[in-house]
Amino acid sequence: MLPLVALVGRPNVGKSTLFNALTRTRDALVHDQPGVTRDRNYGVARPEGMRPFAVVDTGGIAGEDEGLAGATARQARAAAEEADLVLFIVDGREGPSALDDDILRWLRKAARPTLLVVNKTDGIDVRAAIAEFARYGFEDVIAVSSAHRQGIDELLEDVMKRL
Ligand code: GDP
Ligand code: MG
Repeated sequence: MLPLVALVGRPNVGKSTLFNALTRTRDALVHDQPGVTRDRNYGVARPEGMRPFAVVDTGGIAGEDEGLAGATARQARAAAEEADLVLFIVDGREGPSALDDDILRWLRKAARPTLLVVNKTDGIDVRAAIAEFARYGFEDVIAVSSAHRQGIDELLEDVMKRL
């Protein structure tokens, strides 16, 4: 079994874009074994010169009945609980939101090793963007632009240190 990294975050922060940046397109889907929910999108990252790891994008679970906040929090919890490492993705352009706060609460309960990834930092003041999330209390914060592949190598190095 490969170590598993979960991408957790509210809708539209760039989880799927980061998933694609980490896995590229050549990677096949994995985790066909029973008991693994099919509502989550699994792939494999094979960074050059590094150990491969599995990635799960938690964006695929619909929660029509209970509203977005509840569904998002459940995704975060379910993914976080089975992951070796959680990447908590936030939007560096919009700053913290109430949904981010909800997810953070679940992540703290899950108590898995977690990195804060501030995405969409292309063309903005990166230090200011990171500072907006200071109250979340993460020691490890990585700024990336998933869309432009900026910071991805640094992110991979940090992920490797923790797997
Ligand atoms: P998800 O809902 O968290 O999976 O988010 P998506 O990956 O679908 O991205 C949501 C939107 O943000 C899309 O329009 C992306 O093109 C955009 N986006 C994602 N990553 C970046 C980034 O690094 N920079 C910018 N400027 N836009 C991004
Ligand atoms: Mg998505």
